[in-house]
Amino acid sequence: MSVPHPAVEDLVSALPELAGLVRAAVLLRPEPGAPGVLDSSVGGPLLWPAAEPWPLCREAHVVEVREKVSDEDRAALERVDRAVRERRRARPERAYETTAEEAAVVRRVMNGAGSLDRISWETVRTALDTSGPGVPMVPLLQLRRAQAPAADWPDGADLLQVLWCPNDHSDLPHQSAYHGPAVEIRHRAASDVRPEDVLAAPPRPHRADDVYLPTPCVLAPLPVADLPDQDGLPAKLAERARRWAEEHGAAYRRDLSCLPGWKLGGWPSRHLAGGEPLDCGSCATRLRLLLTVPSSNDGPDLSVGRFGELRLFSCPEDGRHPVRLTLQ
Ligand SMILES: [Zn+2]
Ligand SMILES: [Zn+2]
Repeated sequence: MSVPHPAVEDLVSALPELAGLVRAAVLLRPEPGAPGVLDSSVGGPLLWPAAEPWPLCREAHVVEVREKVSDEDRAALERVDRAVRERRRARPERAYETTAEEAAVVRRVMNGAGSLDRISWETVRTALDTSGPGVPMVPLLQLRRAQAPAADWPDGADLLQVLWCPNDHSDLPHQSAYHGPAVEIRHRAASDVRPEDVLAAPPRPHRADDVYLPTPCVLAPLPVADLPDQDGLPAKLAERARRWAEEHGAAYRRDLSCLPGWKLGGWPSRHLAGGEPLDCGSCATRLRLLLTVPSSNDGPDLSVGRFGELRLFSCPEDGRHPVRLTLQ
């Protein structure tokens, strides 16, 4: 087990002003494996009662619409390309230029599409698709309370389940400026689900982006203490914390604060863009970081955002209030 050194506790004894900012977190440390329904897992089977409907995503999905370019149109586009290249060759000091007629040809063939695939000769546009019966979500995380006792658990719950719709959405309710998977969270008591009542074969999504389908992993949870990013501290305190870390052979950021990786609780890895903390849309309470989902080529092998991090923020007052999603 590797614990970040020096420990947050040592820093807090040196700078007691930080004591009130320490948050409990659990580094989940997923490794590929064969988790069972009773296990904590990323991308593993869930302890889900067969009598309870499996979550379906009925939100609009961002889809790519491809249309074959006709042979005549392809020939017209190739004529334009040739003419543009020849003019440029004749006058290398000038930029690539298109005449008004050529631009009109391109506009007509593209017909509003965002790009042209010159290998398949298809125009490509993105659209929002609301058709279809709803997409079955896939398990992202199952976590037993025994492995994360310090987290905020609603009364009576000892199992956290997070599912997501493995597709892009750009218009989800309660989210702003978010483009990524839709997320569902359940807390339950494991003892409520009798072994003979567990849903054996959950429905699989009929559409999914591979980057959102996790490789099943078992977890080796490690409880840690986490501190806020230095940008979230008063300047003088941040400077002292940074210097203390340096003197002890560590970086304040990522060694002592906003610890990286799959993480329950703790602090977000960087101050949110614009520095604005998120408030609950239902009760205006300041939201807290529930879960960080990083991109990686190993372990769960996921990619979120531009190979960044997805953060789930939940309401500490009432877990049923909408979760906010941010990508970094
Ligand atoms: Zn969806
Ligand atoms: Zn709330």
